[in-house]
Amino acid sequence: MPARQWDPASKAKVVLEGLQGKPETAICKRHSIKPAEYRLWRKQFLAKIARSFESTGRPSTNRVSFLSGLGRDTDKSPEALRVARELIEALPIPVYFKARDGRHLGANKAWEAYFGVARESFIGKTVQDLFSKAPEVAAKHHAADEDLWRNPGTRSYELPVPVHDGSIRYTLNYKATFAGEDGKVAGLIGTIIDITERKHAEQRQSIEHRVTRLLADSETLRAAMPGILAAFCESLGLACGARWSMDATAGGFRCEEAWGTDDPRIAAFLAESRQSIYQPGHVGFIRRVLGTGRPTWITDLAADESFLRGEQAAKAGLRSAFALPIRLGDQVLGAMEFFHREKRPPDEWLLETGVALGNRIGLFVARKEAEHELRASEARFRSLTALSSDWYWEQDEQFRLTFMSSMLGERTGLDATSYIGRRRWDQPALNLTEGDWDRHRAQLERHEPFSDFEMERRGPDGNSVWLSISGEPVFDEGGHFRGYRGVGTDITERKRAQAVLRAAYDELARSNAELQQFAYVASHDLQEPLRMIGSYTQLLERRYLDKLDQDAREFMGFIVDGATRMKQLIEDLLAYSRVGMRGRELMPVQAQVALDRALLNLRATIESGGAAITHDSLPEVNADDVQLVQLLQNLIANAIKFRKKEEPPRIRVGVEDAGGEWRFSVADNGIGIEPQYFERIFMVFQRLHTRDEYPGTGIGLAICKKVVERHGGRIWAESAPGRGSKFYFTLPKIQKGET
Ligand code: ADP
Repeated sequence: MPARQWDPASKAKVVLEGLQGKPETAICKRHSIKPAEYRLWRKQFLAKIARSFESTGRPSTNRVSFLSGLGRDTDKSPEALRVARELIEALPIPVYFKARDGRHLGANKAWEAYFGVARESFIGKTVQDLFSKAPEVAAKHHAADEDLWRNPGTRSYELPVPVHDGSIRYTLNYKATFAGEDGKVAGLIGTIIDITERKHAEQRQSIEHRVTRLLADSETLRAAMPGILAAFCESLGLACGARWSMDATAGGFRCEEAWGTDDPRIAAFLAESRQSIYQPGHVGFIRRVLGTGRPTWITDLAADESFLRGEQAAKAGLRSAFALPIRLGDQVLGAMEFFHREKRPPDEWLLETGVALGNRIGLFVARKEAEHELRASEARFRSLTALSSDWYWEQDEQFRLTFMSSMLGERTGLDATSYIGRRRWDQPALNLTEGDWDRHRAQLERHEPFSDFEMERRGPDGNSVWLSISGEPVFDEGGHFRGYRGVGTDITERKRAQAVLRAAYDELARSNAELQQFAYVASHDLQEPLRMIGSYTQLLERRYLDKLDQDAREFMGFIVDGATRMKQLIEDLLAYSRVGMRGRELMPVQAQVALDRALLNLRATIESGGAAITHDSLPEVNADDVQLVQLLQNLIANAIKFRKKEEPPRIRVGVEDAGGEWRFSVADNGIGIEPQYFERIFMVFQRLHTRDEYPGTGIGLAICKKVVERHGGRIWAESAPGRGSKFYFTLPKIQKGET
């Protein structure tokens, strides 16, 4: 293949590729030219361009631009110069020329846009003029130029520089010297490649890499944070940074961790920040971030009133700052602040990178909290299962046991492993029928929770073991049924105690019935011999009275009297035992009707005693009507009997609604009772007076008590001697639906 013929315009294009920053080897490879060839073209190209400045020497006001200078030379320049002029002007990258004394000769449109400087006005000016606000940048460029003048050729270097809007751009500067007619270095041509994007990507990657490692290696945010702050500051050339968080107990927010470059003034500033606690609000730097959850930026700390640590920051040489939220969703967990040594306008990229970092930290905190919660709840669960005498179990979707804690074995001696993989009903339970199991199975199939399901299993030593099981269905996040889990408890002891109790209760009921039977039979059978004693004594009296002396007559009187009393006692005892033995079924009764009946029975007593009886309107109750009459009648009779001599009896029958029951009362204005006798008066044949004072045997209140208790109520007295008595008794209300 014959070698390609290169015309001057094509050569100029190749050289410009190099000026844009493409490496020499890549250019040579692409165009299949030798490096020596390429270098020769570049030399020729730069010399040609340089020649266009020779006639002008020093820049003058009539030189409008570098390109117009080129244009004037077109007539005596070859084709290459025209192409070069057009290409340089159209290049999207800044290109500029400088004379040997460092003064600008001209620049292209892209340069003008990049620095926001009108190129005509800049001719004759120096790099110090271009970076008047960043002398350190100007100094670096200047040093590179000096080096070039000493060793002519090409140079490239990277440098972050401030541009027209004050923002920082990362630049790759490529410079090459050109010679004048005399062969000496006459100046340099420079191009600027903006590598900010690449730099940002690198910085972000380096931050992310370091942060990822730090978060992975740290147990707490406190441990990770100094490293994270350092990574962020070092990668981005920031002076210092700190994390702030809300401290609920101190009622404010405070600086938790900080990192700064090795500078005692910055260390002093950070130490001071860490000392005080700030009150929350919406003004102030960190406050704003914590309050709004959004980043803030302060371009000039000295000019911002909301920045409270302005003085200290100035002393530390800090000029601008920004703060970022540490967020988890809508929740603001804290904030981070960072400081520059220069005044910097808001940098969207920086804020975005920082916010992303804040979000990662937020997620870390949430994850750590979740892990902590999980560990705590596992620990709680472990100690619960370890300390409890209950055991824990799990079942799969098929109701097969998949897990059983060891407490089952420890408590009951049953072998937990023998149940694993099997269903509850695969092994026999002594207390359950097929029907019981069917109902249990149906409940599980409906995925319902169940509680206190009791099973009697055969224990290892042949004894029965009672288990009580409670469980709840388990569903996964998708709502699919995954089985059951629950607890079991050993209720063998309780079951045994219950059995003993039941036996004792049955025994008690039986012996009570027997006793009642005995009392009844005894009193019933005693009546007959008593009647015989009575009638034969009377016979004796009638036939032989005149044959007996005074003493014998008196003795006869005692016998008759005793027999009469005994008859009364036996009748009372019979009446008492009848309350339990011959009671009628309880059914709805109008208490009012029962009261009327009692009053009718007592009419003679009431009239002769001159008693005044009033009452509330009485409700319907569930009762044995005969016994209810007996109850009211006994109480009212007592109220009349134990009257004061000087006052006619006044009696009030009342009733109150006491929730689930009715509370009846019979109150009188009689002699009253001493409190120590409140219990005794309800016992059989217990009384407080002699028969001469007040007649009676002491059975009345005993019958009342038995009647009330048979109805499921209670009876008691309230009284004081001389102040009247009030007897209360309760009867349960009729339940709805009861007839
Ligand atoms: P009795 O009326 O036959 O003595 P009760 O069993 O009815 O037997 O009464 C026992 C005792 O309670 C009476 O002896 C009396 O001392 C006392 N008592 C009962 N009701 C009243 C009352 N309303 N006022 C004062 N004391 C009473």
